[in-house]
Formats: sequence, structure tokens, C-alpha cells
Amino acid sequence: MRRQIESAGDVRRFAALICLGVLIVDTLLRDLALLPGALTAVMIAAPLAYAMGQRLRANQRHAQALEHALHHDSLTGLRSRASLRAGVPGDTARPCAVIVADIDHFKRFNDCHGHAAGDLALRHFAQLLRENCRAGDLVARLGGEEFVILMPMTSPANALRAANRMARRIRQGPVFLDTGPQTLTASFGVAALLPGDTLDAGLQRADRALYRAKGAGRDRACLHDPALDAGPGQTGATQIHHNP
Ligand code: GH3
Ligand code: MG
Ligand code: MG
Repeated sequence: MRRQIESAGDVRRFAALICLGVLIVDTLLRDLALLPGALTAVMIAAPLAYAMGQRLRANQRHAQALEHALHHDSLTGLRSRASLRAGVPGDTARPCAVIVADIDHFKRFNDCHGHAAGDLALRHFAQLLRENCRAGDLVARLGGEEFVILMPMTSPANALRAANRMARRIRQGPVFLDTGPQTLTASFGVAALLPGDTLDAGLQRADRALYRAKGAGRDRACLHDPALDAGPGQTGATQIHHNP
């Protein structure tokens, strides 16, 4: 069984073992093979350095895989809720828009077609969002059938245009199940991230606009309007919690 190096004591024992091994091999090579000193050192160091390099490479890959898993949703491949905060542009003096998207009647979709078909629909929806965003936009899955798109350098009017385009594309692009094509629709709430705003404040406004889109019959995008969205609209996006 492969021993793990976990504690500082393990590291010391490992180093002592390597030193002992080097001493033994060095003695054997010098006495038996009569090799010059420098060549002996290279013959000992080379396999050791190679093994260490391989180990470091494997560790690096593991760390990268963990980092990716932390910042990405495993079902859709989109950014995760945890990585959302890191994506907010530091300079919110420039126009930045936030869109909250929520698939309509998704519980019913799951009930009719099964959870696996629901997962397929989620991947289909995520792909559609990705395809309809620019490279600099950040698309994340908040959880369940709720998604967020952060659009740097975008006015609310342009973000609303983008959200309407996404609503149209999802309506027109069915998800193909074993039983045939199924149409999905989604609702979108759009808001501006104002200078000095926190992400939560922007999400809250977008969530209220989404609440209005749901109330108005779904399958549409609404831009946050303080006069219309004074209520506590709660669809889920604002349940993002601060990490300490
Ligand atoms: P609305 O139009 O008001 O948004 O209604 P809705 O049915 O979409 O909303 P509701 O919050 O009632 O239901 C969300 C459903 O999403 C419930 C749950 O079964 C489903 N869901 C959440 N996460 C997943 C998932 O990872 N996979 C699948 N297949 N379904 C999920
Ligand atoms: Mg929802
Ligand atoms: Mg929904």
C-alpha cells in the first residue's frame, strides 16, 4: 500500500529515508563500480529528481481539478455560485448589468419527463446562455433552475435586449428528449450594478424584476423599475449568502 505523507513527522522520516538510500547507493557505486564522484552524484540525483518532478506534476493536476470543481457547477459546467463574487468587476463606475434567469414551470417539467430529462434541460439551457453571451460575460448557475449572468460594460437597456434575445432563443430551441422535442421557456430579471453597489444589491433588484416577469405570465424579460418593483420579490437569487 502506498504510504501518504501527511504530517511534518512523515516529511522528516521521508527525508531521512532518502538520505539513507543515497548513502547506501553512493557507497555501492563508488566501491563496486569505481565511478568518478560527479557521475555517481548524477546517477543518484537523476531518478530522484525525476520521481519528485512526477509527484509535483500529479499534485499540481489534483490542485487544478479541485480548484475547477470549486468554481464550476458539475452538471452544466458553468461557473458556480461560489465563484460569482470573484467575477464582479472592481470598477463598478463603469456600467455593469446583472441578469437573473429562471426556467419556467421546471417542477412540472421534471414531474412530466423525469429528473434525468430535467438535467438534460438544465444543460441545454446553460449552453444556450453561454452561446448568447460575450466572452467577457460571466454565466453562473445559482442552484436549481436559476442562473445569473454578469455583463461588464453593459447598459441596462442592452442587457434587457440580450435577455429578450435569450428568452426568444430558448422558446425557439427545444430540448430533444427520447420522447421527442420539448419546448422550454424562461423568465429573466435585469438590473444595473450601480457605482459602489454590492453584488447582492444588484441581484436583489434583478430578482424583483424576475418576480414581476413571472407574475406577468413568464417567458419574458423585465428591467428593474423602482416604481414597479418596490416589493420583496423572492425567487431565490437573493438567497446568496456572504462568505465571511
Ligand atoms: P416557476 O415558473 O415559478 O419558476 O416554477 P418552477 O416549477 O420552475 O419553480 P419551483 O421552484 O417550484 O421548482 C423548481 C424545480 O427545479 C424543483 C426541482 O425539482 C427542480 N430542480 C432543482 N434542481 C434540479 C436539478 O439539479 N436537476 C433537476 N432535474 N431538477 C432540479
Ligand atoms: Mg426558481
Ligand atoms: Mg423556475
